[in-house]
Amino acid sequence: MLMTALWLALFFLLGAAVGSFINVVADRLPAGKSIISPPSHCSECQYKIPASDNIPIFSYLWLRGHCRNCGAAIPLRLFWVELGTAILFAFLFWHYGLNWELAIVAFYCCLFIVLLLIDLEHNILPNKIVYPAVIFAIVIAALGSIFGFEPRDIADTGFRLWIVDAAIGGSIGFVLLLLPALFYRGGMGWGDIKLAALIGLVTGFPLVLPAIFLAILSGGLTAAILLLFKLKSRKDAIPFGPFLALAAMATLFWGNDFINFLIRS
Ligand SMILES: [Zn+2]
Repeated sequence: MLMTALWLALFFLLGAAVGSFINVVADRLPAGKSIISPPSHCSECQYKIPASDNIPIFSYLWLRGHCRNCGAAIPLRLFWVELGTAILFAFLFWHYGLNWELAIVAFYCCLFIVLLLIDLEHNILPNKIVYPAVIFAIVIAALGSIFGFEPRDIADTGFRLWIVDAAIGGSIGFVLLLLPALFYRGGMGWGDIKLAALIGLVTGFPLVLPAIFLAILSGGLTAAILLLFKLKSRKDAIPFGPFLALAAMATLFWGNDFINFLIRS
């Protein structure tokens, strides 16, 4: 019991640190800046943030959301991403236990969070992230197939080989979003189609199906609510990437339970 609490706390802190890094990537990558240097600084006054003011989650609270040097507001997003990733990592440990599947799912979650943030703030899904992620997903599935390991919750469809699950899932994800993009101009972009293919590679078949349908359902409902309450007009583009990213994560966590539930009932 105590050990579990300690592990949960450890993963919470690890998640907070990773969330802090995710913020850096989401800030700098779309601007074409280096992720490694320079060290953290205030975007207003360029003041170099000392380590004591750079503690995930807590520093934002100490500093009451303002730069110590110039008083400029620190974006609230930094705080929420750190706290959200911390909670997510504690959840991942609790859900998967300490094994290599946890590492893979945690990695993909970070990737999806970065894409979610960048699409939300800049309306793009950068190839700089999506292409290497596609290659990683193919390589890890191929290695798993060669060395005989397959994640229990990611791709478990009766096919013997993870790479086959992944290839079918990726193709279905690609086609499912390519078709609406061909018929309705202006809806889905190439970025969304490539992300759907990546999600299919990650979740495999058949989990790609609930992932894409959950994204379309949640995206459609959100768009309808935003239009209904006139928070957005028809001309505003509502990015679809965040819905794909969230649906992919939910499917990784609960997709297999959902499919087993469907089969049993
Ligand atoms: Zn400042």
